[in-house]
Amino acid sequence: MTTPVHGDKLLMRTYAPVRVRFVEGHGSRLVDAGGRVYLDFLSGIAVTSLGHCHPAVSRAVALQAGRLWHVSNLFGNELNGPLAARLDTLVGGGAPAGGRVFFANSGAEANECALKLARRYAGRGRHHVVSAFGSFHGRTLATLHATGQPDKHEPFQPLPEGFRHVAYGDLDALEAAADPTAVAAVLLEPIQGEAGVVVPPAGYLAAVRELCDERGILLMLDEVQTGLGRTGTWFAFEQAGLRPDVVTVAKALGNGMPIGACWARAEVADAFGPGDHGSTFGGQPLACAAALATLEELERIDAPARARERGEQLREGLEGIAALSEVRGRGLLLGAVLAADGAHARHAKAVAEAALDAGLVVNAPASDVIRLAPPLIVTEAEVDEAVAILGEVLG
Ligand code: PLP
Repeated sequence: MTTPVHGDKLLMRTYAPVRVRFVEGHGSRLVDAGGRVYLDFLSGIAVTSLGHCHPAVSRAVALQAGRLWHVSNLFGNELNGPLAARLDTLVGGGAPAGGRVFFANSGAEANECALKLARRYAGRGRHHVVSAFGSFHGRTLATLHATGQPDKHEPFQPLPEGFRHVAYGDLDALEAAADPTAVAAVLLEPIQGEAGVVVPPAGYLAAVRELCDERGILLMLDEVQTGLGRTGTWFAFEQAGLRPDVVTVAKALGNGMPIGACWARAEVADAFGPGDHGSTFGGQPLACAAALATLEELERIDAPARARERGEQLREGLEGIAALSEVRGRGLLLGAVLAADGAHARHAKAVAEAALDAGLVVNAPASDVIRLAPPLIVTEAEVDEAVAILGEVLG
């Protein structure tokens, strides 16, 4: 355990006691309070895709911090429009997609926007949203109910009404749940990150798109964890060959600056009028400056190609570790599954802790899964180093 500092005890106990306190980070490396250097293969949970303190983002933030931080959305600023245009073009695969964007401060808020938009678009009475068991969409009361994890719901009942859950990847179950007289939208992650990097069966998402089209139901994809290059394409939905009606992003958008966004087709977005939704901070200049610099740099380095290349190397390396039974995921969002008959079976948390002790930052989203989400700027040598550390920990 790390040495306590003044005030630690005053923090609400929503997280387990921490083992390490980081004080500095550059690229793929983090430094703890004792000066020890770690290799970061978690990136603040798929956030710092450009690595810690990327000079281009730090510079943009520093410049903006000396110019204008915040004005509220009662007034215009010069950065939220250009950022919306950049996102819209990414959603469109390089050409404008014809959507509109609402800026928020987190993934949960981006999804909260999507949920409210679905209700406004479909109209009163047709407000249900179908999401998947195992999913994670956030911690606000509505996104918590969209999150398909009943054990997380339990302490906070009653939750906002209007959510149905089906098995992820089960089209028949979705067909049965998606009653077009009651359901406004289907909300899915293209890969379930928090469930342990779960990839749906081939063809599932395309079939969901078809079902939604047939029934006039919105398809909303939560790309908060998968988006912006991490899975080897700008958005994971590209690999399914479809375009959703609504896409949410956050995590990597600001490379660590809190910012989220909800993109929607213009016809859907236009269901919102002034006063329907809002945010004090959403789209403020400082956060937008970070996001613009982040997207510019991700595009400049062709982040999706990096994720594919280094992801392949990481996957191959992990597949050589005997204690692992499977490596799943895409690009640089990988879940290493501990063999059920091995010495580490279902002890992913202990493995992640041992990796941390050995200088590698990863985490355990499920009892049998180690998640690896290194920055997309990770080098070939760093991938080899991480595989070697994990191989030793699991040896
Ligand atoms: N959606 C997905 C897919 C996520 O992985 C997360 C966070 O892990 C969220 C939403 C919530 O994002 P935030 O913690 O920024 O509210």
